[in-house]
Amino acid sequence: MEINKLLRPHLASLKPYSSARDEFSGNASVFLDANENPYDVLGGDGVNRYPDPHQKQLKDRLARLKGIEPQHIFLGNGSDEAIDLLFRAFCRPGVDNVIIQPPTYGMYAVSAAINDVEIREALLTPDFQPDVDKIMASVDENSKLLFICSPNNPTGNDQDKERVYSLLQSFPGLVIVDEAYIDFSLSESFINDLKAYPNLVVLQTFSKAWALAGLRLGVAYASEEIIRVLDHIKPPYNVNALTQKVALEAMEKADQKDSLVETLRMERDQLDRALKKSTLVKRTYPSNANFILAEMKGSAKEIYDNLVTKGVIVRDRSKVQLCENCLRITVGTAEENQKLLSELLSYEQ
Ligand SMILES: *Cc1c(COP(=O)(O)O)cnc(C)c1O
Repeated sequence: MEINKLLRPHLASLKPYSSARDEFSGNASVFLDANENPYDVLGGDGVNRYPDPHQKQLKDRLARLKGIEPQHIFLGNGSDEAIDLLFRAFCRPGVDNVIIQPPTYGMYAVSAAINDVEIREALLTPDFQPDVDKIMASVDENSKLLFICSPNNPTGNDQDKERVYSLLQSFPGLVIVDEAYIDFSLSESFINDLKAYPNLVVLQTFSKAWALAGLRLGVAYASEEIIRVLDHIKPPYNVNALTQKVALEAMEKADQKDSLVETLRMERDQLDRALKKSTLVKRTYPSNANFILAEMKGSAKEIYDNLVTKGVIVRDRSKVQLCENCLRITVGTAEENQKLLSELLSYEQ
């Protein structure tokens, strides 16, 4: 696949912003080139200076952690920024289209709408797997992006690998595999397939397993060509200095992340068993993420409203296609999960 043929034509000749640090990046003792304020008033963090627009240290560290080369990494202000940039790079407003698979993460459709890009919906099958035939039937020469979310939000299940490979082979545009929840799954990441599939983009994030949603740090892994496009069109300082600093610190404690993930997986399975015993729950869907989709008996909306009055907030997904009468419940601490269960129990009576 030739990425240049997918790219919006006007971007082929774009000259990206050249920052002061692009024009001089060596060592010096006096920097008077970026109109920064020389006083670090907060002391220590150096936030009076612009951050590295290329996030070199952060990319090198993440590359080492993932066993991948830094040229295959894009860093953004959350993976939501990467999603938006993919639209801006590859989809001509009012002309191109993208394919999403409801029920899934809401940002794909919102980003498409913001960018005036047509959305084609290929509903997941009743067991929440890609419907390959339906997807391919909705493809035309202007189909640029296909979104696959694995594990899928809000259903929690991994997407079948063989179907994803089949789509990577047959879809004529970029296939975006959103792995926001991959650390909670036993499946292997698709980043191992980047070399084989030049049209693959894998999204990951520091918001979930890394417990850093407030930092806003998302990652896209893709071919060098795709990464270069995203880097050219991003705002130069899209990852701020504090985010870069804290993410570097976090990666030194990857063990801590792994053990928290292990704890949350255990809590998830325990919560799942308890929910299954509740007379308010018709069934729960097997989850490989840090949340559980539960189909309720009685009205999910009424149960949701009752939980709100008790100060326990879950996500009401009861109006979502294939998730009728479902609540999506994030796995919290043992105490939080217990509080949810005891409020459900008191509502039952
Ligand atoms: C939470 C989530 C994200 C994370 O987005 P950020 O902008 O990185 O916080 C991405 N994709 C899915 C499917 C999610 O559920």
